[in-house]
Amino acid sequence: MKNHIGKLLPRYTFVLNPYAEYRFTRCPGCKQKMRQRKLPLFIHVDPMNSVALNYTCRYCPDCDLLLAHQDQIESHLARVFAQYDPSLIGNDYMVLGTMERQAWRESMKEPKAISEMLEHVHGFKELQTVRVQPGGWYPASMDPSELPVQEPGPLNTPWNARRFRPTAKRFGPPTPPQRPKLKRKRRRRRRS
Ligand SMILES: [Zn+2]
Repeated sequence: MKNHIGKLLPRYTFVLNPYAEYRFTRCPGCKQKMRQRKLPLFIHVDPMNSVALNYTCRYCPDCDLLLAHQDQIESHLARVFAQYDPSLIGNDYMVLGTMERQAWRESMKEPKAISEMLEHVHGFKELQTVRVQPGGWYPASMDPSELPVQEPGPLNTPWNARRFRPTAKRFGPPTPPQRPKLKRKRRRRRRS
């Protein structure tokens, strides 16, 4: 499915890197060293919110590929929504495109309606996912396509912290921190 959100022409192939431990200094497409490009990313947050984050992406000019690290994006989102509306923290979100810098600056000074922001958004040409095949020793006869793939582990970010504590009560007073229990050493009675 093509993702044609926004009024402007689509730009870039976009990758949201789900690994915290792999930073893709080389392009996942062509293996060349990646450059950087700082852009306002336009992000939709469920149910009805949008935000533009000025973020330094990794960029491959040959593939026209933009890559953002999911853990960093979620940290930025958590920081923004902690001020704006903390109840939305942890909701599903999607990076939909890039926003024109000038419009982004204006929206920082004065919040704009989503419809107005979309006038200045380039959707992505394509969304791609990445999976890492960790290095190691494998039989020479092995087909490269059969190399094991390391699935990304769960990200522990301030955005999804709630999901890591499914039993935490959202309402009511916070439970006091438990003191570590100290075990008393039993003293041996000395027999004299
Ligand atoms: Zn590339």
